[in-house]
Amino acid sequence: MTYNIQDDITTIINRLRKDNISFQDKIILVTGGAGFLGSWVCDVLVKQGAYCICLDNLSSGRFDNISHLMEKEDFRFINHDISKPIYFGLTYHPNGICVGDIKRIDIVMHMASRASPFEFKKFPIPILKSNTLGTMNALGIAKAHNALFFYTSTSEVYGNPPDEAIPTPETYFGNVNPVGPRSCYDESKRAGEAFVKAYELQHGIRTKVVRIFNTSGPRIRSGPEFGRVVPNFIRQALSDEDITIFGDGSQTRSFIYVVDEIEGILKIVYKDEAIGEVINLGNNKEYTILHLAKIITKLTNSNSEIVFKSLPIDDPVRRSADLRKAKKILNWQPTTSLEEGLLKTIAWFKDNV
Ligand code: UDP
Repeated sequence: MTYNIQDDITTIINRLRKDNISFQDKIILVTGGAGFLGSWVCDVLVKQGAYCICLDNLSSGRFDNISHLMEKEDFRFINHDISKPIYFGLTYHPNGICVGDIKRIDIVMHMASRASPFEFKKFPIPILKSNTLGTMNALGIAKAHNALFFYTSTSEVYGNPPDEAIPTPETYFGNVNPVGPRSCYDESKRAGEAFVKAYELQHGIRTKVVRIFNTSGPRIRSGPEFGRVVPNFIRQALSDEDITIFGDGSQTRSFIYVVDEIEGILKIVYKDEAIGEVINLGNNKEYTILHLAKIITKLTNSNSEIVFKSLPIDDPVRRSADLRKAKKILNWQPTTSLEEGLLKTIAWFKDNV
């Protein structure tokens, strides 16, 4: 199979067009715009005729994801860590750096954060900062420009839900260990949501929150040091290395392909009905990690062996998204099958990793 990312970007634009959704002429700040999901958003926005400001410190984002956009007039890259203040439309501010020539911002999309459990050990403080201080700074930009604010939260705010909360609705409050190895991410995303609510209540900002479930696809990072399950298994399978399952592989996740996720995200950003709402975007089809390992071995014709390693502490037992709210508010549901998404991701890996 040959894979061209531009075909998938066109698919997203066509799906949005069916709902008359376009961001043409909007000025949109995307923090984490060089990351996996952020760069897909930038691609769609630029193609639709928006002016896209991509802010990223390239800590986990990659310049390769956006280098093809650098020549475009409607794209601007700013290398900055959003956990430190930045001011648009001002030439001087005592607290931070200024970007004087960008005077108007219509939408702020705060997408900057490392999301890989492997990195929770190595970078817990920057992760905490980008989701708390970074969210506050991004909200400050939205407040200064009277912009709509969109925040990428995560299914991790649910922690380890009991079986009766599977699939998990937005109304489930969560079962999270505040001092566990995942807490830098889970708790800071929860605090980020609280920041969003506080700015909405106190300053009347128009806000929207998405809770993203396990998303994969082209541009997801692939090194062994990042360790997300889909890219790990694909990388291992393609090189005939052992496929490392943590635990006995009976834990579940619900996987969504990046095209479905970005379509849902941009529907949330566009639709007024999503103002003030928190919406799950993921899948409600649950697969065990063992099943995922087997299917990736089959799709890659790999000779890899499956091996079992110890299960990380606080690894969630089950994950599945209750999507009723997304269906109702956005008329959205994922349409790409697990196999189809994996085949595209595998094809991209073969050419790019
Ligand atoms: N996992 C695994 N082998 C790997 C990487 C991950 O068995 O090489 C497991 C991990 O323990 C978890 C699931 O796969 O149960 C999903 O892990 P991922 O890091 O993708 O994200 P999470 O959903 O845990 O945030």
